[in-house]
Amino acid sequence: MIANHFTDMKIIRTVSEMQHHADELRKDKTIGFVPTMGYLHEGHLALVKAAKILADVVVVSIFVNPIQFGPSEDLSRYPRDFERDAKLLDEEKTDIIFYPDDGEMYEKAFSTYVEVKKLEDHLCGKTRAGHFTGVATVVTKLFNIVKPHYAVFGQKDYQQLTVIERMVRDLNQDVKIIPHPTIREADGLAMSSRNTYLSSEERRKALFISASLRKAEEMFSSGIRDAGEIRKAVNTILHTEDGIDVEYIDICDAMTLEDISTLEKKAVLAIACRVGKTRLIDNTILTEALQ
Ligand code: AMP
Repeated sequence: MIANHFTDMKIIRTVSEMQHHADELRKDKTIGFVPTMGYLHEGHLALVKAAKILADVVVVSIFVNPIQFGPSEDLSRYPRDFERDAKLLDEEKTDIIFYPDDGEMYEKAFSTYVEVKKLEDHLCGKTRAGHFTGVATVVTKLFNIVKPHYAVFGQKDYQQLTVIERMVRDLNQDVKIIPHPTIREADGLAMSSRNTYLSSEERRKALFISASLRKAEEMFSSGIRDAGEIRKAVNTILHTEDGIDVEYIDICDAMTLEDISTLEKKAVLAIACRVGKTRLIDNTILTEALQ
């Protein structure tokens, strides 16, 4: 049983109650939605602030979605602290936390999945088989449950954002997707719930990731359009010291996520690597706006 010490913020644990509230709210209010897996940080809270500006009522979901984790991934050790999350969301004047358990979201006989083809063949999809199907499926379910007018997603998870945007268009889902820029620590590290896994030495090494993105932005701003040259410089920075195991450094078309060799249209430089056992991702968008 979750105690609710908050006077203005509701904590809803069942699909039927959330759907009922959403129906009532939609009679005369707009709903802004921020889906999360909890263990909140300033990145998540920035999305909540953006949703508050857009909509009359803000719903935040906290659900560590089991079907987006592979068998060897960190589902069981993913950090969780509902009490702390609820306090932070109350301070942001969140209206509703939707906090279902696994059984509420997935019946035993559950068998319907949303697969966004092609986009999941790139970047993280190459090593995380089924991950984006798990994400697209849970986000579709959450949209059906929370019935939002707006849903805010972070650019930190660039491929996830692209997959969701494609899915919403393809399935005519009646929600507007709002991208939000990546929120970083003062020293440049992209905020992530997984940063908590890092030792202080790993935390220091992880800074090479954002430093390499800044270098790529500088090269792009100085007029370099050869993807190979930018990739090489990024790779060199990531290998300044031992301890970063690079999974990919990809420069791709911002819409299709296909690799490109020359930066002509809007492009994304995306990095995934392991620092110790922790898998970190980060990216930057390379467009003429950077010039
Ligand atoms: P998660 O709890 O990691 O599933 O993330 C929930 C939402 O927060 C997703 O839309 C993420 O892209 C977004 N998010 C996570 N970290 C950041 C960050 N550092 N800056 C902006 N958005 C973020």
